[in-house]
Amino acid sequence: MKGTVLYGPRDIRFEEREDPKIVEPTDAIIRMAVTCVCGSDLWPYRGLQPIDGPTPMGHEYCGVVEEVGSAVRSIKPGQFVIGSFATSDNTCPTCQIGYQSSCTHREFMSHAQAPLLRVPLADGTLVPTPGVPKDDLLPSLLTTSDVLGTGWFAADAANVKPGSTVVVVGDGAVGLLGVLSARQMGAERIIAMSRHEQRQKLAREFGATDIVTERGDEGVARIMDLTHGLGADSVLECVGTQDSMMQAIRSTRKGGYVGYVGVPHGVELNGEELFFSHVHLHGGPAPVRRYLPKLIDLVLNGKINPGKVFDLTLPLDQVAEGYRAMDERRAIKALLRP
Ligand SMILES: [Zn+2]
Ligand SMILES: [Zn+2]
Repeated sequence: MKGTVLYGPRDIRFEEREDPKIVEPTDAIIRMAVTCVCGSDLWPYRGLQPIDGPTPMGHEYCGVVEEVGSAVRSIKPGQFVIGSFATSDNTCPTCQIGYQSSCTHREFMSHAQAPLLRVPLADGTLVPTPGVPKDDLLPSLLTTSDVLGTGWFAADAANVKPGSTVVVVGDGAVGLLGVLSARQMGAERIIAMSRHEQRQKLAREFGATDIVTERGDEGVARIMDLTHGLGADSVLECVGTQDSMMQAIRSTRKGGYVGYVGVPHGVELNGEELFFSHVHLHGGPAPVRRYLPKLIDLVLNGKINPGKVFDLTLPLDQVAEGYRAMDERRAIKALLRP
């Protein structure tokens, strides 16, 4: 088969690789239905995150099980399955309290921008759908593997409740689906921070009630204007830079919550400012596995349509164009069809 490999900054290749095989008896091999490029793939693509030699890419996946190892019990060949970007046994004490993305046996997935994928800890990691879903549901189902699960965790970690006032920092796929998640959780007011017209439009479709185009101190001042000088109950930080993190903390009301899911790049917090900000901070790699059954259900029942974040669809062998389009912000998120 051919798969996607990053060689260095902006050097992505779709090249011949060995077919994945069962390595551990708890593995499964799946045939990819659809996969995609993630915003987080852009950090190494842009050379902002060092790589250790040629790196197989891709961690968002869904497809049909081809083969399972001898110790796999619940997952069967022929099932359509979705898994998180982080593998989990789903049985250890950390998994049992719902933090599967910090499972003692966690591995971060890669190699998914390919037609075949080995998934470790298949029983704990994968969630089957009832039957094989229709083709038009595939983009939305794929989002549950990471971006929707991550946006949902951001909203959950930020304690979004019916009636909440919510701010979402970041207008990438995760931020946009953070808006959708906050809407599902009953937020009354959702302020999306975005200066990109196309993304503002989608944010409104997903449930944003206000758009703030300013950033930094001006952005915070706008949020204060909109919230009677108090700040928001819940703020979703979906970027991971120093500026976005500070914008999130400073936009939160005293006693409010920041849910941070942007992978931090150079973020440092000042202890004194944090102390007097009086906010709850909760975040990290989203425990997508915890939310998968619920999110799959919402998609299959037509309650949500998160697949709208894919505004570019390409054949898998044109994956390099998917990276380019996202890097140049011509696309929010690129769907890849094997
Ligand atoms: Zn991702
Ligand atoms: Zn575990």
